[in-house]
Amino acid sequence: MKPTKATERVKRPVKGTLSEEQAKEVLRRRSAYERNVQASYVGVYRRAWKGRSLRAAINAKCLDCCCQNRIVVRNCSCVECPLWDYRPYQVSE
Ligand code: SF4
Repeated sequence: MKPTKATERVKRPVKGTLSEEQAKEVLRRRSAYERNVQASYVGVYRRAWKGRSLRAAINAKCLDCCCQNRIVVRNCSCVECPLWDYRPYQVSE
């Protein structure tokens, strides 16, 4: 199967951790998911999917958790969440 443009844009998962079939499935699912990501946040998800930035992964996870609404992330009140101290879009005092 020839990869689509969206598939080509998504980086491959870490080599050696997935079989070829698993890697293709990851790419397929990420490409499909990306179509539902707001344009302004696509870069955040792509950086996270590259697998080289924990910061990007946290940012993407918090956006995921809050329906891609940065105001909701900023005002997140779930202090029990292990990511709470690290969530993006906090306003420094
Ligand atoms: S810190 Fe808040 S927004 Fe981020 S993952 Fe946890 S609950 Fe969701």
